[in-house]
Amino acid sequence: MLIADLNGERIDAARAKRGPDYRCPACCEIVVLKQGRKVIEHFAHKPPISCSSANGETRAHLEAKALVHSALIGRGLKAEIEFSVSTFRGDRRSDVMAWSPKNVSIAFELQHTAIDLDEIEARASSYGHAGIAQIWIPFLKSSVWKDGEPCREGWFVERYSPRPFERWVHGFGGKHGMWMYDPAKKEFWLGRMAGHQTYVEEKSWYSEGGEENYGGGFHRWSKRYKELTLTGPHKADELLIKIETRKKFNGEGFSWPAGLIARLIPRQITR
Ligand SMILES: [Zn+2]
Repeated sequence: MLIADLNGERIDAARAKRGPDYRCPACCEIVVLKQGRKVIEHFAHKPPISCSSANGETRAHLEAKALVHSALIGRGLKAEIEFSVSTFRGDRRSDVMAWSPKNVSIAFELQHTAIDLDEIEARASSYGHAGIAQIWIPFLKSSVWKDGEPCREGWFVERYSPRPFERWVHGFGGKHGMWMYDPAKKEFWLGRMAGHQTYVEEKSWYSEGGEENYGGGFHRWSKRYKELTLTGPHKADELLIKIETRKKFNGEGFSWPAGLIARLIPRQITR
């Protein structure tokens, strides 16, 4: 985690000094300040770790939170890392919370590890009820660079096997698709998925009566694969935020809540 508690005050690891007993805001156990050349400054629980807020805390996730936070601050917005929403049950922290000039709260959920559908739907619904705008940003797996090729928009993966939560995030974005984050280059891509067709080979066989049968020879939509087109890349500070209202929507076994959704819009850059 990047934020710890010290006598009721939020302390950012980037500005913390060694010495005091920093505590985890979730479980109140003492956490250790880690500072090194190769890792971003952060706080870590001491083993054995039972705190749920220690889950999914990869180095890339810590870096992404710090990156988004500093881009928002750099643009003059108020923003907090690991901001606790007091009305939430379970894990109350948003990765980054920002406030628009009109004081609308905007939660950034940077999803490095997979999240199960019940959890993402419950959390999204909580944001909706609380009037907090939300944006979910899955991390790109490094395999997309191996499996894809350059295209006019940026990058194209013909056979992409999305994780269930990515299908959810993509559906939540509707026609606008989903923003994805490349942890290796610290860049953002706008991802759009479309149906992928697989070819069923033509074949013939004989039934018991000696009759010849034919099958295959056609395309069908793949259940597993999608075509993924990535537009970009964009640096964090090139992306502006737009807040929109969306209605409750169900489909494809998913449920998307009513509420505010935050979209990222690349700023027109004149070079
Ligand atoms: Zn804890």
